[in-house]
Amino acid sequence: MSPTLLINGAKGRMGHALLQAAQEFNLTVAATADAGDDLAAAMDRADVTVDFSSHLATRQLLELAIAERKPVVIGTTGHAPEAKAQLLKLAAQVPCVWAGNYSVGVNLLFALTRRATAVLGATYDAEVVEMHHRFKKDAPSGTAARLLEIILEERKLGAEALRHGRNGITGERTSAEVGIHSLRGGDVVGDHTVIFAALGERLELTHKASDRAIFAQGALRAARWIVNQPAGVYDMQDVLGLK
Ligand code: NAD
Repeated sequence: MSPTLLINGAKGRMGHALLQAAQEFNLTVAATADAGDDLAAAMDRADVTVDFSSHLATRQLLELAIAERKPVVIGTTGHAPEAKAQLLKLAAQVPCVWAGNYSVGVNLLFALTRRATAVLGATYDAEVVEMHHRFKKDAPSGTAARLLEIILEERKLGAEALRHGRNGITGERTSAEVGIHSLRGGDVVGDHTVIFAALGERLELTHKASDRAIFAQGALRAARWIVNQPAGVYDMQDVLGLK
């Protein structure tokens, strides 16, 4: 039996894409919720909650999911790192997929970025560039944040290595820094490029999303998968078997 869904943030751009994708996948949307609605009552009616709303909504959503022992799929981004660390502890008490990007192509980009960082080493300067539509409220994107995490992990660097744009007399670039640049404009659904630049060559890995449907389809795939898993936090690499 396919699980029934609660879509939280249903009136938003992703909410619409999720409603459309649920129809295409023949999944029943048992409830929808948006800001101001009774989330507990909505959660009662569905097997699994799919959340693409606001980072301010995540704590309450997880507390309700724990109380109701319901699985969740979190797509919302924009959590500060310390807040996210606390939220992940809550999320681990229920079956939870939490991914900054639900597209299959981006999840392959994560795997390729890890491999390229390991093979190329620190003599290749790593920079991440992302571009999104003018309405996006957080920067850098959750996907860029994950790409940076992967590079920092592989290079054994801490968050102090990050350079959020550059301005003024910055001095020469050192190998102990990783740059991140967020562009905003128009209706761009989501572009991410990881650049590895050395003296003599440059490798660029680029993903371009042109339709939000890819995130919605991935999130519904995750919803189907998570209802059969024990409590714990999983990502899209787990759902896709890329680990
Ligand atoms: P949006 O602004 O179009 O929609 C957000 C919706 O959430 C709105 O309808 C808003 O009213 C609602 N909302 C706000 N506070 C709420 C609350 N407390 N409870 C319930 N609903 C609330 O934004 P969007 O483009 O649909 O993106 C939503 C989120 O999903 C953002 O954080 C975005 O970065 C993220 N996102 C993630 C992925 C991914 O693959 N993980 C892809 C696209 C977008």
